[in-house]
Amino acid sequence: MSRERVDGILASLLRLSRAVDGTLREGAAAVGLTPAQAETLRFAARTRPDMATVGQLARVLGVRHATAVGIVEPLVERGVLERRPHPYDGRRRVLALTPSGRRLLARLERVAAELRRELEGLDRTSLERLELGLGALVDTLRRSGLLVVAAPCAGCAHFRPNAAPGTKAPHRCALIERYLSEAESRMLCPEHTPAA
Ligand code: SF4
Repeated sequence: MSRERVDGILASLLRLSRAVDGTLREGAAAVGLTPAQAETLRFAARTRPDMATVGQLARVLGVRHATAVGIVEPLVERGVLERRPHPYDGRRRVLALTPSGRRLLARLERVAAELRRELEGLDRTSLERLELGLGALVDTLRRSGLLVVAAPCAGCAHFRPNAAPGTKAPHRCALIERYLSEAESRMLCPEHTPAA
């Protein structure tokens, strides 16, 4: 592909990222949050409880641990986020939404709905091409370490599906060396490593 075409795609991506960032920033500000705080609430809501640590949050946000702590603290003080004991490791704590955090997140998600409507307005072929192209770009950025994408277990190199058939936790993760229920394996994990 010619350099001009690549430059054109890059310019479109930058414009898009500014537009999406602006919309999300506005939505977050409307409920008194910074974009990073809004992302932290989404992280706490969607990440599997045993993976929702501040360390993983730092990876997902692409910031240092101390910065992630600085993002979390005001949310804890505001009563929308709390630290809970880790379900399997007594030395660690995980992040979880409080009931008022869940209500705040629901308000935030209405902003994302606006972006969803714009996407739904595209024809099917454009959507499929976009999905393919963006998927490839996300994959490249993830492989080069510029992006951490939390994803369910399916397709992860560490996933051993149906390792204990007929049990309540039939799947196994070779990374954390633990059996997982069907529901757990469907939740988002920031350690997801695409199988080659
Ligand atoms: S590392 Fe992979 S297999 Fe293990 S819990 Fe995370 S997504 Fe699932």
